[in-house]
Amino acid sequence: MNKVNLHTHSNFCDGSSQLKNYVDKAIELGFQGIGFSSHAPIGFNTDWHMKKEKFHTYHQQIGKLKTDYKGEIEIWCGLEIDFFDNDEYEFDFNNSNLDYSIGAVHYIKPDSNYCIDESKEKLKNILKYEYQSDNKSLIREYYNTIVAMVFKRKFDIIAHFDLIKKFNTNNYFFDENAKWYKEIVFETIDKIKEKDPIIEVNSRGFYKGQTKEYYPSKWILKYLISNGFRITVNTDAHTPFEINNEFDSMIQNLITLGLSEISLFKNNEWVKESL
Ligand SMILES: [Zn+2]
Ligand SMILES: [Zn+2]
Repeated sequence: MNKVNLHTHSNFCDGSSQLKNYVDKAIELGFQGIGFSSHAPIGFNTDWHMKKEKFHTYHQQIGKLKTDYKGEIEIWCGLEIDFFDNDEYEFDFNNSNLDYSIGAVHYIKPDSNYCIDESKEKLKNILKYEYQSDNKSLIREYYNTIVAMVFKRKFDIIAHFDLIKKFNTNNYFFDENAKWYKEIVFETIDKIKEKDPIIEVNSRGFYKGQTKEYYPSKWILKYLISNGFRITVNTDAHTPFEINNEFDSMIQNLITLGLSEISLFKNNEWVKESL
């Protein structure tokens, strides 16, 4: 099987290293393709998104690597783009000449105060002060935002589908086995199915010791597979050493769950390969 990882962060955003080091490591690890997916610039300042003025250089440097490494490994220019449903905050990717795009919900409202991914403390405050401790309505908002993203944007991949569990160790915020939670997740999947988005299995929460399972959890993957969703595998690497983290185990996990074909990017298009 072709090994391809489209979810990587370099020092153009919050990753550790230069682009070239990821390419060299990917070759060493036996990958046939690597895509860069910096956090796209957004409408307010953070310490983890690419600055707007850097995008041109990012695109140019990746272009040069494509030429330098031609015949050795495929290299693609992508972005992980925050969905805001608000042009003031969201990166306009339509004219940016990307090879692919990853859509992400890190914010449940177009406001720096509504990031569900930064820290447990921040999520606690959102839940307490913005949702009056009503965890169901916060979680409903998270998944509704995913539905809106899928219907309003044409991103290739949906990032870390159940990211809302990131700080939920020991069911701190909600019971992941509760009937109401499963119903919200299943409804979300039923709604987005017609748009045929690609779902990634993402190992970052797991190898960082934040989650007990990959994103998304097995029971969610099972439902996605039985509904015929296209599925791909990424590691959300923030250092070159994370490019292969859990990669083969994620594939094994998918085979065990009954997936027979994986979606891969190859020669600049999405193809399916047997597992
Ligand atoms: Zn992300
Ligand atoms: Zn990422």
